[in-house]
Amino acid sequence: MAIDERLMDILVCPSCHGRVEHKERRNLMVCASCGLRYPVRDGIPVMLVEEATQGRPS
Ligand SMILES: [Zn+2]
Repeated sequence: MAIDERLMDILVCPSCHGRVEHKERRNLMVCASCGLRYPVRDGIPVMLVEEATQGRPS
């Protein structure tokens, strides 16, 4: 499910305030700066540090 572009424009990582990218295939929002991954539930990004998981460095 695509996320509204206007919503994408205002979303930032609550941990570091970096930009987040939507990984549609995996239904995740990934912070480009700190790598935290936020779940997307019913098309709504859950931008909460408590809900985030740390991505593995690649
Ligand atoms: Zn971040």
